[in-house]
Amino acid sequence: MINKKEVDDFFRYIKEHYSDIVSDNKMLKTIWNEAGKLNIFVNDLREDSIYILDILGKYGIYDFSFWLQRDVLIPLFEKIASKEQKDKYLRKLKCGELVCALAITEETGGSSFDNIVSRVKIYNGKYAITCRKNVVTNACFADIFFLVTKDDSDTLCIFLVESKNAQLSIERTDTVSYIGGLGIGSVTCNSLIVDSTNKLGDAGSIKISLMYSLAIERFCCATLALNICQEMYEKIVKWIKGRDLNKKYESIWFELSDYSIALLEGKAYFDIVKDEFINKRNLFYSAAKIKYSAVKLALNLSSSMARICGCYSIDENSDINIIRYLNLSHAYAAAGGTQEVMLQIVSRSVQA
Ligand SMILES: Cc1cc2nc3c(=O)[nH]c(=O)nc-3n(C[C@H](O)[C@H](O)[C@H](O)COP(=O)(O)OP(=O)(O)OC[C@H]3O[C@@H](n4cnc5c(N)ncnc54)[C@H](O)[C@@H]3O)c2cc1C
Repeated sequence: MINKKEVDDFFRYIKEHYSDIVSDNKMLKTIWNEAGKLNIFVNDLREDSIYILDILGKYGIYDFSFWLQRDVLIPLFEKIASKEQKDKYLRKLKCGELVCALAITEETGGSSFDNIVSRVKIYNGKYAITCRKNVVTNACFADIFFLVTKDDSDTLCIFLVESKNAQLSIERTDTVSYIGGLGIGSVTCNSLIVDSTNKLGDAGSIKISLMYSLAIERFCCATLALNICQEMYEKIVKWIKGRDLNKKYESIWFELSDYSIALLEGKAYFDIVKDEFINKRNLFYSAAKIKYSAVKLALNLSSSMARICGCYSIDENSDINIIRYLNLSHAYAAAGGTQEVMLQIVSRSVQA
């Protein structure tokens, strides 16, 4: 269980030192180690997960993805790891001594497992992995990677590889501004040899476990996107009032009324999905629906904001900082699967 006061102080510290922390992989790593000491990665209470997601919003540090380790990757590991693998890594992951990352996306595409073209070769009980994984969150400071690849029979496999392995190289990706905390990078391995102690799960359990984990990731992205929308909405109302536009441009208020209603509707549906998340129900369809609607709202609101604020929207240092909102909205639109992919999942639930 987390101590909310300590977590609040810690997140405020991150906000106050944001620029220094995101510019330095070592500092990012230290922050994650410190987060572990505050039990942020011990997922015993889903209400605490919601608290953590909300407090990222409170301090506007949407690019510190502690939820990825807490809600997505440790539960995945607990589901598919062997007893020996758990004995070796689980305690360290939970106390933040180790940071992990999930590497799926390849140059050929990240939204479907069908797009994974890398193949692991099997010789005498050993595995040789050659792959390049792009846009991996935490890559710049992770200690262990869950590398998702396939074998010659097209079956999904996950290998647990430590970043200190000499055959693995990591490169920081130059991303757009305000998502620096995600520590995005690419991971390359060339004939990296591992054995069965590095292999996670079995063919039967991997695909379903990964799909479940991605649903949780989408729910977390949706929570952040809704928090970003709330922040944008409050900022823009304040900005308009400050410029005394309220009497002059009624259409602006009409536009904001639309967003006010959409935000209320989004939150009402979010409360239902949040309840499912807290009670550990299957979020496969509902997470896709809430991510789709929250991200759509964030994308629309950020472009309306850019238009309404006119020339002020290009000032990086203004309170409006539209570049930050546009970048965050687009980042969360793609993370965990794009809008088209969410629609594809939703359309299956409609057909069912
Ligand atoms: C902030 C951020 C963090 C990320 N973190 C990670 C991470 O930790 N690990 C990781 O492995 N990846 C990560 N990614 C990558 C992310 O998972 C992919 O960007 C996402 O899955 C989409 O894949 P893609 O960009 O390769 O697009 P593609 O899959 O190549 O798709 C290209 C275009 O085709 C569209 N499309 C795809 N499928 C369909 C379809 N069936 N019907 C219609 N249109 C379709 C897409 O919407 C998109 O517009 C991250 C991305 C971002 C932005």
